[in-house]
Amino acid sequence: MRQLIAGNWKMNGKLAEVAGYAQAVRAATLHADLLICPPFTLIDRFAAALAGSGIALGAQDCHANPHGAHTGDTSAAMLAEAGARYIIIGHSERRLDHGETNAIVAGKTAAVIAAGLTPIVCVGETEAQRDAGEAETVVRQQLAHSLPEGFAGVIAYEPVWAIGTGRTPTEEDVAAMHAAIRAALVEKLGETGKGLLILYGGSVKPGNAASLLALPEVGGALVGGASLKAEDLLAIAEAAPRG
Ligand code: PEP
Repeated sequence: MRQLIAGNWKMNGKLAEVAGYAQAVRAATLHADLLICPPFTLIDRFAAALAGSGIALGAQDCHANPHGAHTGDTSAAMLAEAGARYIIIGHSERRLDHGETNAIVAGKTAAVIAAGLTPIVCVGETEAQRDAGEAETVVRQQLAHSLPEGFAGVIAYEPVWAIGTGRTPTEEDVAAMHAAIRAALVEKLGETGKGLLILYGGSVKPGNAASLLALPEVGGALVGGASLKAEDLLAIAEAAPRG
């Protein structure tokens, strides 16, 4: 199975950057699937610039309802119309900045699936939780309550303390957590749980991508800071094992 390398631009990027970035990623020969998740304002422009390239587009959040009186929000169907095929849900920055609970994440995830898109549901422990030996329990709890019935999508394991810090867990810790996530998915979803991609996210860079992406049960990466430069995202995709 090809790995998925997903770039999360967060609240970065201008219209003027889209054409050059799209040109660079289009020119690459890839053996991993590439996904760019720019801010809402750039999705439509990216969709035009990447048309026919096979490079997917995604969004970073959506509302749980399809439409209505929700000032400032955007629905999954609207994002699909703009060109998104994936939506990141429950990123730790949203869980922290916007108080998104597991229940909110589950509602949004169900909305993404109902709109015919693929959710990327983020889970991960804080540093205090890891230090207290609770990392696996926390992530299992998040999975138990953030995934709606009949879930089909992608999971991103992102230790909160590794995001944007330049720090990563040991390879043993990443492998152990991915094995635990796989076990939890199979427990919850049966056969479906065996085939879902589990991405690692948290300070993935060209220099550490090969070792992280080669670990068992790692099906790709969710990349924040390094995705802002096309050459870095492409170097990470190049480091993915050929599968
Ligand atoms: C992220 O925001 O999902 C992320 C993993 O960020 P970074 O790669 O910058 O740590």
